[in-house]
Amino acid sequence: MTEWSIGKIKKITYWTENLFSIILNAKINNFYAGQFTRLALKINNKKIKRAYSYINSPQNKNYEFYISNIKNGKLSTNLYNLKVNDKIFISKNSSGIFTLNNIKSCENLWMLSTGTGIGPYLSILQDKICFKKFSKIILVHSIRYIKDFSYLNLLKKIQNKYFDQLIIQVILTRNININKNILYGYIPNLIKNGKLEKKIGLKINNNNSHVMLCGNPEMIKQTQNFLEKTRNLSKNLKKQNGNITSERYW
Ligand SMILES: Cc1cc2nc3c(=O)[nH]c(=O)nc-3n(C[C@H](O)[C@H](O)[C@H](O)COP(=O)(O)OP(=O)(O)OC[C@H]3O[C@@H](n4cnc5c(N)ncnc54)[C@H](O)[C@@H]3O)c2cc1C
Repeated sequence: MTEWSIGKIKKITYWTENLFSIILNAKINNFYAGQFTRLALKINNKKIKRAYSYINSPQNKNYEFYISNIKNGKLSTNLYNLKVNDKIFISKNSSGIFTLNNIKSCENLWMLSTGTGIGPYLSILQDKICFKKFSKIILVHSIRYIKDFSYLNLLKKIQNKYFDQLIIQVILTRNININKNILYGYIPNLIKNGKLEKKIGLKINNNNSHVMLCGNPEMIKQTQNFLEKTRNLSKNLKKQNGNITSERYW
């Protein structure tokens, strides 16, 4: 049974017509960077709950969530219509193993994301331990249009702090050829055709890499299959260490 706390909306940012973030305050238990919680609202007398990943670092008590307003979505459309000072249910305890405590230290940490799947990485990147555990961190953010790159300013701040230890690569799936630093297409295809690794200047391999995958389940499935078959990477399991850790959003 979920134990609920009642939170209060502190801030809402509307990035685009379907991407927004909420910040709320509530009394909840500590979480690890990369974990998710459950948010809920009473809709027609029924509590509708869904999982959302924290964006903020575990030390920051302004709990922030980056959300896609899904057309006809039961909860996200109602979250989109919240106002400052509105009440919201938040689970007291957080969940999930998409965290660095479950990943062994290695040279290169690849963080691959689609859309709001960048969320857990933003929390992880704001946690100092991340930059102690890996020599290079490659954050790959696949979005439809450049206007969907909502957290560019936060990422620039983090990059300024850690300089070339953090590489950020944007991939656009709809806008084509607007900037030569951007890649165009789908993550699994850009790994298969070698364009992603060529652009970054690093290879994903079994000896020195760990790959995290978050967001669209199809991206996760295709990328994981390819890396398992061609690079000998394996799923990171509780019982057996591997080098692929994933979080599906649906
Ligand atoms: C561990 C975990 C963490 C999650 N963290 C986040 C998060 O930080 N931000 C976030 O926006 N969502 C996140 N989700 C998805 C979220 O829980 C909901 O599924 C989503 O908000 C849709 O809920 P809904 O009630 O509006 O839609 P529903 O009426 O439940 O419709 C669900 C459908 O919406 C689509 N969908 C769900 N999530 C997305 C998405 N992010 N982008 C595009 N299409 C989607 C899928 O087709 C899915 O079948 C997470 C899911 C999981 C399992």
